[in-house]
Amino acid sequence: MLNIKIFGIVQGVGFRPFVSRLANSFNIVGNVSNRGSYVEIYAQGSEINLNHFLAALQSKNPPRSAILKVDVINLPDENFSDFQIVESSHEAGDIFVSPDIATCDACKRELFDKNDRRYLHPFINCTACGPRLTILKNMPYDRERTSMNDFPMCKSCAEEYFNPNSRRFDAQPVCCNDCGPEIYILGKNLLGHDAIKFVRKILVNGGIVAIKGIGGFHLACDARNFNAVERLRNSKTRPTKPFAVMFRNISAVNRECYLSDVEKSFLDSPQKPIVLLNKKIGSITENVAPNINKLGVILPYTPLHMLIFDFPDSLIPYFPDSLVMTSGNPSGVPITIDDDDAIKNFDFCDAILSHNRKILLRADDSVMDFIDNKPSMIRRSRGYAPLPIFFTSNKKSVLAIGGELKNTFCLAKNDLFYASPYIGDVSDLRTVEVLRNSIRRMKNLLEINPEVIACDLHPRYQTTALAKEISDVLGVPLIKIQHHYAHILSCMAENNFHGEIIGIAFDGTGYGTDGTIWGGEFLICDENHFERATTIEKFTQAGGDKSSHEGWRIAVALMKDFSLARELKLAFDAELSGQKFLLEKNINCVASTSVGRLFDAIAAILDVCKVSSYEGEAAMRLQVIAERSDKNFSAKFMTTDKIFDDILTRRLNGENIFDLAKLFHVNLAEMTTHIAEELSFKTKIKTVALSGGVFQNSLLSSLTAANLRRRGLKVLRHSMIPANDGGICIGQAVHAMNFTD
Ligand code: ZN
Ligand code: ZN
Ligand code: FE
Repeated sequence: MLNIKIFGIVQGVGFRPFVSRLANSFNIVGNVSNRGSYVEIYAQGSEINLNHFLAALQSKNPPRSAILKVDVINLPDENFSDFQIVESSHEAGDIFVSPDIATCDACKRELFDKNDRRYLHPFINCTACGPRLTILKNMPYDRERTSMNDFPMCKSCAEEYFNPNSRRFDAQPVCCNDCGPEIYILGKNLLGHDAIKFVRKILVNGGIVAIKGIGGFHLACDARNFNAVERLRNSKTRPTKPFAVMFRNISAVNRECYLSDVEKSFLDSPQKPIVLLNKKIGSITENVAPNINKLGVILPYTPLHMLIFDFPDSLIPYFPDSLVMTSGNPSGVPITIDDDDAIKNFDFCDAILSHNRKILLRADDSVMDFIDNKPSMIRRSRGYAPLPIFFTSNKKSVLAIGGELKNTFCLAKNDLFYASPYIGDVSDLRTVEVLRNSIRRMKNLLEINPEVIACDLHPRYQTTALAKEISDVLGVPLIKIQHHYAHILSCMAENNFHGEIIGIAFDGTGYGTDGTIWGGEFLICDENHFERATTIEKFTQAGGDKSSHEGWRIAVALMKDFSLARELKLAFDAELSGQKFLLEKNINCVASTSVGRLFDAIAAILDVCKVSSYEGEAAMRLQVIAERSDKNFSAKFMTTDKIFDDILTRRLNGENIFDLAKLFHVNLAEMTTHIAEELSFKTKIKTVALSGGVFQNSLLSSLTAANLRRRGLKVLRHSMIPANDGGICIGQAVHAMNFTD
């Protein structure tokens, strides 16, 4: 008899039924059980059958599973008469929790099949699809430990659940029209299909609806209706930040956007992220994503989404095939997940469509761009979290709390780094509460008891305070990691790189070891220490918080001749004089090396964007116009203050702003490459890592990477881990692993 232990994503993906079917096909007796961190099999049969069985286990495993390790030992035979799935008992070990999975094609077919008993059932799912992480209380993944425990299975569902030949065998969230959760309109006596019809009518008529999904509420309206979108913007106090659009199907996407094969493969994957695609001129109204050339696109990933688009009522000919689908959260606060908060937060909506299956952990939609034909993750959340990344490390258990903006946290143990779903901006105290609760939940789920807590170096971050609190409660050490160093470490971990590296971290802001604002950093580092080798040219950020989104304030600081600020009408004269006063008297001034702010300043002098209404707006718009230039500049090495002067002079000479935006990117890439080359020459280090939010700019990232390679350097970039602050928790965890008392 063989005792086989299989580690990996083997829970909640139909693995045990698969083992059972396979065993039957090879005349193998014994059993399979779910041990929480692994699946254990006792298999008894002829030697040849056992060999086939072992091979098939690893080659024919279910599509949503992932095998990471298999341990096999020989044991004496026992008295088995058949092959059974036995009750789970829990063992400690590395834990792999499946992310939530988009509705599969088979379930979608049944959803719209009149003869199927789950016809139009808003919670249809199977072992290959449905909610996982967001409904899970504890491991192992069994129905009683999920929020489906509130819904006892009917006789028919139970039959499928216990039948090894069913595709719902052992599917924990299995349910049907008779026994599943119920959808309803909050505050109205409308249930089930009536609720869907009601919502469809509102959407067709240009209304706004809040819809409870897998990981939280969304706000939806017709993406072709200017007034509806405008009303949503005003209600959300979100003047220009782009909204994502959910399309009914791929052909609707093709009509509105350019879609490459690789983009399509991610857009239509079981993870169903939001993918940023180049817009065509179509029917999506301009105010969905103003001033940029990309659109965040997503496909329906729950049965409820599919029913909202395709419910067979009389509205079929009129119903839009594109809906704005944006996270339902008041500005700066995490996504809403329960009815009480929905009533409070969505009073401006024409209806709130909810359901009674509890969301236990928030999961926003993931967001992905593409750079050089490879994914560039912007927000790693639903569908991806909490899959770990592997990076050989010390075996400590670590909690890294992450940064303050775009927060995610990371739990790590045994070379596995589990990054959480997206939490958000932790400057709001309500977000701190969500972070605190999410940490508790993930710690339980993954059974990690941290021996070290890691956080950012910033003394006034809420995350730093929370990390301190947790370290006091647990009585374990707290270590603080410089922001840009954490960025580079996360890039090293994603690329599985060990050793010394030249790290280039460009972003908006991070607290430096000297108390100034960093953000244009060239680091020499490894997992244990870093040195700030050099930086871009220092400038002064005056005006506190305003200087982080009002690019004209940075432009004024960078100008040698103040009268030019007036000539370019960077702001009202009184504002300009006020800014000059602050700079001259050194009031409310901080030294800064932020490349993000440099982008803002250039966008201001080119009159592209003087004030950003969301983080990164100026840089995004600058890239958009740069990409419209077809001029080929030969790059020239200049320090960043010279680059600024040069663009300013050319601007005053009336050169085309598209060309100047491009020239800025070209020269910034050249400056970056030149310095990296010098550092490589000095240190003999041949590998360069690019990290920080600025490298989400695909033009700068492509140019810089190509330059570096041309000069013989190896380049590491991000792909599935965000280059922005959503990735730094992993870098913090990597460093904390190496902490010794
Ligand atoms: Zn399915
Ligand atoms: Zn049922
Ligand atoms: Fe950063």
